[in-house]
Amino acid sequence: MLEKYYPYEYARSVFAVDYKKLYEMGYRGLIFDLDNTLVHHGEPSTEKVDKLFAYLNKLGFRTILLTNNDEERVKLFITNIQTDYICDADKPDPSAYLKALERLGLPKEKTVSLGDQMFIDIIGANSVGIPTILVHYIKAPGEVWLGFKRYIEMAILFVYRRRKKYTHRLGNIIKRRKK
Ligand SMILES: [Mg+2]
Repeated sequence: MLEKYYPYEYARSVFAVDYKKLYEMGYRGLIFDLDNTLVHHGEPSTEKVDKLFAYLNKLGFRTILLTNNDEERVKLFITNIQTDYICDADKPDPSAYLKALERLGLPKEKTVSLGDQMFIDIIGANSVGIPTILVHYIKAPGEVWLGFKRYIEMAILFVYRRRKKYTHRLGNIIKRRKK
């Protein structure tokens, strides 16, 4: 029953994913959620994110931002980034993900979707069969209050981590923490 919320993998951030390995496995497209996945809600991009996208382009990935936020918000973000995007996407509606695949020109089997919300990003991509990576949400500095949904997510994540059939479904694609 909870399976539809289970990601294929969990990552502490978008920077912890080994994209080179994903590419070697045959993946060619990446669908990114924006807010609290790449930067904190409403914030412009950072140098680190800009570098990540430059690296992904160099590897040969096609990328697309899929956000329920509006165009003004996306434009604030992508000043130094080469990527396609869909705003006002209406996630978790499956049509948002089908549209993203169409724009990437790739089948779901060659695409991975990354996002911070189980109830939006993971359930949406899972519903059309796109492999998913749940990334730990980015909090604003000093932010302590968590929404109710985050507690539910934590509970589902707790169960998910014990269901070995569902964890690490993309293999060994998480980079180790640097000591
Ligand atoms: Mg988000």
